[in-house]
Amino acid sequence: MTNIDVLVVGGGPGGSAAAYWLGRAGRAVMLVEKKEFPREKTCGDGLTPRSIHQLVEMGFDFDVPELHRIRGLRAYSGELMIELDWPEHPIYPNWGAIIRRADLDLQVANLAEKQGVIVRAHTTAAPILERGRIDGVELVSDGEIEIVHPKIVVVADGSLSRFGRALGTIRDKRRPYALGARAYFSSPMSTDGYMESQLDLRDESGASIPGYGWVFPLGDGSVNVGVGALSTFHRWKQMNTNGLMTAMIRGAPEQWGISEETRLSPNRGGKLPMSLSVSPKVGPNWVLVGDAAGAVNPFNGEGIDYAYETGRMAAAHVGAALDADDLTLLGRYKDELDATYELYFRVSRMFVRLIGRPGAMRLLTHTGLRNRTVMEWTLRIMANLMRPEDKGVGERVYDVIEKIVRVGPNP
Ligand SMILES: Cc1cc2nc3c(=O)[nH]c(=O)nc-3n(C[C@H](O)[C@H](O)[C@H](O)COP(=O)(O)OP(=O)(O)OC[C@H]3O[C@@H](n4cnc5c(N)ncnc54)[C@H](O)[C@@H]3O)c2cc1C
Repeated sequence: MTNIDVLVVGGGPGGSAAAYWLGRAGRAVMLVEKKEFPREKTCGDGLTPRSIHQLVEMGFDFDVPELHRIRGLRAYSGELMIELDWPEHPIYPNWGAIIRRADLDLQVANLAEKQGVIVRAHTTAAPILERGRIDGVELVSDGEIEIVHPKIVVVADGSLSRFGRALGTIRDKRRPYALGARAYFSSPMSTDGYMESQLDLRDESGASIPGYGWVFPLGDGSVNVGVGALSTFHRWKQMNTNGLMTAMIRGAPEQWGISEETRLSPNRGGKLPMSLSVSPKVGPNWVLVGDAAGAVNPFNGEGIDYAYETGRMAAAHVGAALDADDLTLLGRYKDELDATYELYFRVSRMFVRLIGRPGAMRLLTHTGLRNRTVMEWTLRIMANLMRPEDKGVGERVYDVIEKIVRVGPNP
């Protein structure tokens, strides 16, 4: 029988970060992942400066050959194009990266293991409940069953979150979410230094979609090509990500050399639960992190950084609750989530409702892409890279929007 204080369910960014920080604090932790590492995860594989910052803090080795550094974003809409470097920021670095999730998640799980975490891949966890509390967790691997009795469980099982649903968590259906799909292609532009976004995303009928298409270079001869569409689209019921991928591939800039002939993998899709839309985030002896909590940023579909951040935050509160032998202290994790993200996500929900209106996305991108200053501060707002001190126009505009949203309806 394995004696552990904390069980972490899921070996993606949220679970591995929580396990890493708990292990580093000297806790007895087990991380279980149902797939074998390295495991594939449907994703754009894009790391923005917020993710890089968390990886730096965990001692990630950025010199691995699988990682391709990125200096900024190139955005297209129709004939318009703009290149923006990542901004200077007092905390976050001015660079990003692209790395396949199979490689990234394996390496972060290894970092957790080096902190003393017991990592068990190929192991599926299911809760055993006793009056709403997790009494034990059943771990199944190749038909072998082990029951463990952790004091606290960190639920990091991703967007479908079956473990979380068994605890009674639900996604607020009124809040927006997104669907995305991606595939790999070989491309002569694989060593490009920019992430590309196609902001004028259209379905096969030519309707403008709230969301964007991307081409992210991996540096190894291949690129990750994908689409993400928001549920605020006025014709959401007819939306089909495979159709969007077909339109995206057809419309990709010629220099990328993307076509059915250069395709390396089939389309794979996934759901992006956004703006902390899953509740409750804390139970009697468990907490939710990452996609299981719905932590994706609605502005741009990033979830890796928010999974690292919420995993780290949860680890601190789990540690405090264990030290005080008082599990009610887990409630402070929810307070910190609210204090850190609630207003920002409220603003972002307002934005994604706005761009769901017919023609709005096209109008905004066509106006914005003509003005470099506007695009620079838009990038800082959307990637959540605003500077708390030293406020520029972008931060000041955002402050005004936030003040309006604070007293307005909660979209
Ligand atoms: C198409 C698409 C493109 C995206 N592109 C980007 C991007 O470029 N940049 C970005 O920042 N974000 C992107 N995201 C979002 C990002 O992928 C997620 O937000 C991120 O993976 C969340 O991490 P997580 O650890 O919460 O969940 P996951 O990464 O999903 O990890 C959950 C893990 O839990 C395991 N698991 C599930 N159930 C169990 C169980 N019962 N027992 C044991 N293990 C279990 C799963 O196998 C999985 O490995 C994209 C998402 C999609 C769908």
